[in-house]
Amino acid sequence: MKTALSKKNLWEKTPLWVKSTFGRGLGLMPSAWLLGKSFRKNCKFVRDVQRWPKERVREYQLNKLREILKLAYEKTKFYRRMFDSVGFHPDDFKSLDCIGKLPTIEKQTVIDNLSDMCTKSISSKDVDYGSTGGTSGTPLHFYMNANRSSIEYAYLATSWERTGYKLGMPMAVIRGRIVRPNRNGFYHEYDPILHHHYYSNFHMTDVNMKLYLKHIRSIGPCFLHAYPSSARALAKFIIRTGEQVPQNIKGVLLESENVYSDQVSDIEKAFGARTFSTYGHSEKCVLAAQCEYTRDYHVWPTYGYFELLDAQGAPVKTEGQEGEIVGTGFINTVTPFIRYRTGDLATYVGEYCKECGREQTIITDIKGRWPQGGLIASDGSIVSMTALNVHDDTFNNVREYQFQQSVPGKATLCVVPTIPLNDNEKQRIITNMNKRLQGQVILNLEIRTELVKTPRGKQPRVIQRCTPFIKSEN
Ligand SMILES: [Zn+2]
Repeated sequence: MKTALSKKNLWEKTPLWVKSTFGRGLGLMPSAWLLGKSFRKNCKFVRDVQRWPKERVREYQLNKLREILKLAYEKTKFYRRMFDSVGFHPDDFKSLDCIGKLPTIEKQTVIDNLSDMCTKSISSKDVDYGSTGGTSGTPLHFYMNANRSSIEYAYLATSWERTGYKLGMPMAVIRGRIVRPNRNGFYHEYDPILHHHYYSNFHMTDVNMKLYLKHIRSIGPCFLHAYPSSARALAKFIIRTGEQVPQNIKGVLLESENVYSDQVSDIEKAFGARTFSTYGHSEKCVLAAQCEYTRDYHVWPTYGYFELLDAQGAPVKTEGQEGEIVGTGFINTVTPFIRYRTGDLATYVGEYCKECGREQTIITDIKGRWPQGGLIASDGSIVSMTALNVHDDTFNNVREYQFQQSVPGKATLCVVPTIPLNDNEKQRIITNMNKRLQGQVILNLEIRTELVKTPRGKQPRVIQRCTPFIKSEN
């Protein structure tokens, strides 16, 4: 895989023994200093942006869009062709509404046209390779700027500050990283620059989770940064076994997977701390973070240009209406993503948050992209996973569960039980779940020892193998 010689990449590649030898000394230095001057500058900028009035935001977005449209038009065959086909020239871009004159693109567009979509040579030193994972479908590959990490991390760290996180605080990270066991078989690695303790989410057995929690209790005031499925596995373990809760966890940062309300309630109940989610994607077009006062998301206006579009491609501006998240990224200038349909859905709330005073677009109820968005009924309609959030005692004896579907109208509910389940218990689970589905999808139950994870260790709630058929035309 191609990676540029950025500071972050070099550190990632540094052997563990070097990190731990020199890291002990480095660990004493403030993280912001270690992450570099440009990171500190980015953090300051991002913090300021939160208080920008709407007019300033609009002016910034207009300039950034002009820049990216011009770059795309002048340097790529694909966008020149596309802009010409609708009679658009970047010099005509006078107001934000003009963006509606351009067609949208989607994942398949990038798969088909990547070689004509890059603004510079992909062998340049400052170009990295990126991709999106998944359990099915074609993976998406693209190229991006090597310096993106310090920009992106500034947005994330500033978002987390809303929950009381401060740069340099220890973080317990359980998110798909390959963590090798030490000589005692303990899956833990430490990064002294970021003060991150990594634990393996590929090995979430009771024995290992007990070790993880014991270790987390020893690292001082910290945040848990996890995939929702991993944090929930840990939470269920605490609830089930009465294992001592790490009181030093000040908040739980959830990212990279759909967040379901039953996960949030289990995690908050077990840890006695608030969960906080951000929404983003590998293509880096849109980043949104929850408000510290509500569960709604505020869209970062300087990360990319955000649009919420209805099925006809018109902007959604009515409170409570759902639309598809469409983004034009400002960070990736190597493969520009212009009006990129993410396939993710969100509900529009407004442009001003009364609770925190931020003048930013507010969205809520974000639903992840196909194919993990739901189950397909026999009539082709989609049963939203919201209907399948389980807050009752159905899964009392179940550690984890996942739906797997290959045919519309039918699906398999795979469960990893915590005790051997007798026939009555199996029947109770399947009856409860089938009741929720009201005949739209008929479930059968299968007992598993583990569930399907993506190569990056994400554990989607739905493994969808039916062919997608809901794509709209533009
Ligand atoms: Zn707010």
